[in-house]
Amino acid sequence: MSEMDFENRYEDRIVAPTEIMGDEGDNPLRPRSLKDYIGQEKAKQNLAVFMAAAKQRHESLDHVLLYGPPGLGKTTLSGIIANEMGVNLRITSGPAIEKPGDLAAILTNLNDGDVLFIDEIHRISRAVEEILYPAMEDFAIDIVTGKGQMAAAYHLPLPRFTLVGATTRAGQLTAPLRDRFGVCLRLELYTPEELAKIVTRSAGILNIPIEPDGALEIASRSRGTPRIANRMLKRVRDFAQVLSNGIITLETARIALERLEIDELGLDANDRRMLSAIVKFYRGGPVGLETLAAAIGEEAVTIEDVIEPYLMQIGFLNRTPRGRCITKAACLHLGYDLPDAQDGQLKIEVFS
Ligand code: ADP
Repeated sequence: MSEMDFENRYEDRIVAPTEIMGDEGDNPLRPRSLKDYIGQEKAKQNLAVFMAAAKQRHESLDHVLLYGPPGLGKTTLSGIIANEMGVNLRITSGPAIEKPGDLAAILTNLNDGDVLFIDEIHRISRAVEEILYPAMEDFAIDIVTGKGQMAAAYHLPLPRFTLVGATTRAGQLTAPLRDRFGVCLRLELYTPEELAKIVTRSAGILNIPIEPDGALEIASRSRGTPRIANRMLKRVRDFAQVLSNGIITLETARIALERLEIDELGLDANDRRMLSAIVKFYRGGPVGLETLAAAIGEEAVTIEDVIEPYLMQIGFLNRTPRGRCITKAACLHLGYDLPDAQDGQLKIEVFS
C-alpha cells in the first residue's frame, strides 16, 4: 500500500456511520416508541401530530420521506411509526428491489395500514419507480403478464399501506417520487447532550455502569451520530472492564478513545489523513472530489455521503464549485502553522 492509501478500509472504521460488522446486535438498543426516541424534536413533534390525526380518522398514515446522513435513526423511526400505529413493519431497500415484480410481490403481501420501509430509496430503478407511483397514489398496481397475443393486463388493488422512504440524498429523488410523499422529515446530526442521553440509555439496556461525564465524552466524539455513539460505548466498555472495574468514567472514556485514535472532535486517523492530503498535496484546495478520492484510495460517494457531512458541519471543509477546500479551523486542529499568504503553502482563499 502506498503512503496515501488508507490503512483501514472505511468499512472497518469505528466512526463509520453506516452499519459495520458487530453492529447487528443493536436491536435491543432501538427505541420502540416516540417517547424513547431522543432528539429530533421537530421531526418527532410533527410526526406525533400526523400519527394522532391518522389514528383519529381510522386511516393509514400518509407516506413519509426521511432524509439525512446514515446512522441518525431513520430505520428506527420507521419501526416506531409501525409500533405506534399498531401495524406490521416490512423492511427492504432500493438496491434489493431489482425488478418491478419484486416490488409487486412485497406490496401484495402487505396488510391494511402496514408500514413498508424502503431504505436508500434513491437507488430504486426507473422500472420499479413506475410501479411505485400508482401504488402510492391509488393503492393499486397494473401488471402485464405474457407477451404478444398471450399478454394480459391485471389491475390489482393493494392494501392502504404507508411507505416510509429513507435516503441520504433527497436531491437525488425524482420530482414525481418526492411529490408523492405527504410528509418529508429531515433528520439532523445530534448534539453532544442528546447523544449523551442516548449513550446513557444504551448503557442502561446493556448493563454497563457509566458516569455522566463518561457518557458526554463518548457523545462528543461520536460525530453527531447515534450509531457511532452506541458502537463507541461498546468499545469503551472493553477498556473500562480492564482499566477501571467496568465503570465508564471520564478518565477511562478518554484513555479508550485515545487508544482508538479518535480525537476530541471524533475524527479518526483517516479523516486526519484526508484533511492533511488536501493541505499537503493540494495546498488547501480546491481539489476535485474524484481527484481527492483517488489520492486517498476512497470511493467518491463515500467521501461525499459519509465523511464530508460531519467535516462540513464542524466547519472543517467547504464544498465549492471548483472543489473541496480545507478551512482555517481544520488547519489549526491538525496543528499546521498557518503560512503567510505570499510565501506560504496555503492560498488565502482557503481561509474565506
Ligand atoms: P439509519 O437508518 O438512519 O441509518 P438507524 O435507525 O439504524 O439509523 O439507527 C442506528 C442506531 O442508532 C440504532 O441502533 C438505534 O439504536 C440508535 N438510534 C438512532 N436514533 C436514535 C434516537 N433518536 N434515540 C436513541 N437511539 C437512536
